[in-house]
Amino acid sequence: MAAFRTLDDLGDVAGKVALVRVDLNLPMADGRATDVTRVEASAPTILELADAGAKVLLLAHFGRPKGMRHSTMSTSLVQGDLERVLGREIMFIPEVMGPVVEQSIGILRNGDIGLLDNVRFWPGEEANDPAFAQGIAAHGDFYVNDAFSAAHRAHASTEGLAHLLPAYAGRAMERELRALEAALGTPQPPVAAVVGGAKVSTKLDVLENLVGRVQHLIIGGGMANTFLAARGVDVGKSLCEHDLTDTANRILDRADHSGCTVHLPYDVVVAREFAANPASLRTVNVHEVAADEMILDIGPQAVEALCDVLKTCRTLVWNGPLGAFETEPFDAATVALARIAAALTQDGSLISVAGGGDTVAALNHAGVADQFSYVSTAGGAFLEWMEGKPLPGVEALRA
Ligand code: ADP
Ligand code: MG
Repeated sequence: MAAFRTLDDLGDVAGKVALVRVDLNLPMADGRATDVTRVEASAPTILELADAGAKVLLLAHFGRPKGMRHSTMSTSLVQGDLERVLGREIMFIPEVMGPVVEQSIGILRNGDIGLLDNVRFWPGEEANDPAFAQGIAAHGDFYVNDAFSAAHRAHASTEGLAHLLPAYAGRAMERELRALEAALGTPQPPVAAVVGGAKVSTKLDVLENLVGRVQHLIIGGGMANTFLAARGVDVGKSLCEHDLTDTANRILDRADHSGCTVHLPYDVVVAREFAANPASLRTVNVHEVAADEMILDIGPQAVEALCDVLKTCRTLVWNGPLGAFETEPFDAATVALARIAAALTQDGSLISVAGGGDTVAALNHAGVADQFSYVSTAGGAFLEWMEGKPLPGVEALRA
């Protein structure tokens, strides 16, 4: 993997000021975070730097304030959650640069942690304004980026700062980059990719990138319907993008040319109405879908065939559920394949990397998220990486 400087490359940091970009964009309810996974992910980096005697200044965005101060989007709102997860007191600093920051650094002792306010309160952040980045950089001795989830944005705190100070990947960033490299950078073949979810249109670039890189492309979810339609299957009332069948055929042709086997389901689970355990539930061959039926999951025969495929593979990358998993029993295929992937991973025969908002929810629902090699909670950044796009925040860290 292209080399990134990590915390292992830092010398003595005692008394130095570390500017650390973290992800504090937590889901909130009643003034408290409902999920602190993102803070837990960055805790090792923050504590390692603090314990080595650095003065740690945390830098993050929170919501979309569009370049203006909003009391409802101050990072001070997550100070309590941060203190609970870290088990330390934190000093909130209501600026990102200037005399208030300078004075606060004077008050912080070595090993103390300060929390700067929402960096998106200033328009220079999203504009990646060099003068703005320089204003922040002036307070720090070095920069650490531990927010992979924001790395697809070329903003001052995610990209600009990396060019102005010695820059390092934090521990969470390092883990994410290693996992992604193992899954699609220089993976052990054969590689299988599962691409599911609702629509082909949201994942065209993902599909185009993957057909040239993986040996098996497994298509499920609503997007399988578009591919089935492209192959001449009547998908009835299923979610299907009929205007994209030419595109789907082009992807199938390209896969053929690059030696990538595309797996579409032979059997599917259908119903006349979209509800939990509907009376009209049937499992049928794809050629037997009635005009008034919807395909809501791939069928058990398809799942069995896919299990056999995974058993021959060394690497799996997964984005998108195979069915409408939020509603029973249309979670069955996703849960079954996820459990097989988890078991193969635990046996040591498969490296499994998954990501995507609904995919993470589906793996949690299946109870196997912690049995995959790596599950990315990064959302947009994970998808752009699956599209094969360079991420500005990652590129800027290359040594
Ligand atoms: P991710 O967030 O992991 O990238 P997507 O947002 O692309 O995943 O897709 C997830 C959504 O796709 C889920 O809400 C799921 O219900 C829906 N979905 C999957 N299969 C079907 C289907 N056959 N018909 C309708 N919706 C589906
Ligand atoms: Mg989604």
